[in-house]
Amino acid sequence: MKTDFLYVRFGANWPAVRRFFLDVVWPEGAVCRSCGKISDGGVLCPACTARLRDDGALFSWQAEEVEPGLTAYSLRPHQGVARDLVLRLKHQAEACAARTLADLILPLPPDVVFPPDTVVTWVTMPESRRRDRCVDHGRLLAEETARRLGLPCRKLLLRRETRERNQASLNREMRQRNLQNAFSPAETITFPVLLVDDVLTTGTTARRCAEALRSAGAEHVAVLTFTRASGSRAVW
Ligand SMILES: [Zn+2]
Repeated sequence: MKTDFLYVRFGANWPAVRRFFLDVVWPEGAVCRSCGKISDGGVLCPACTARLRDDGALFSWQAEEVEPGLTAYSLRPHQGVARDLVLRLKHQAEACAARTLADLILPLPPDVVFPPDTVVTWVTMPESRRRDRCVDHGRLLAEETARRLGLPCRKLLLRRETRERNQASLNREMRQRNLQNAFSPAETITFPVLLVDDVLTTGTTARRCAEALRSAGAEHVAVLTFTRASGSRAVW
């Protein structure tokens, strides 16, 4: 369906307006958020649920050192059903996708341990972008993650409000420049931190956030992303 004219009409509120109409036409849970076919009440249809689970047989809790001392865990490759859920959450304000993604966290593999005093946080969005998207997808993912891990969750990072370019459209070098001094700590940090984000691409965002957390005293920072994109660009 061509919807550009509707975006012009409703502007930044378009994702919420669209969601509202979809809820009237197709009540929540009636349509699979990945393939679009009728589902039997779930966020995904049985076939997509199976696909998401099977993708985890080869790729789940992949650990990667994005810089010395900073490990990022990713739960699925940035493709297929997992990617569809990330995009639904991010661009169409569908919070149910965050719950389905967060369900991938458990069970934790035996070698992945988060100390009980760990605080979960997210990559704070510039306020202007949060308003445009009508959903703070990072925050939703962090809250759902914390709930499943039984850990507290709060905002530990402040975001500079400038005309940053969206990271997804930039290459590695441009990303690094774009996020220079973008984050600052919201408080003194004397506990381990688990930073949650939707997708790991070059790791630049994770490094910048870890830098800000460490400047406030954080000694242990780990990163959890739901998907891992290969290459340095194009995450949609
Ligand atoms: Zn499906």
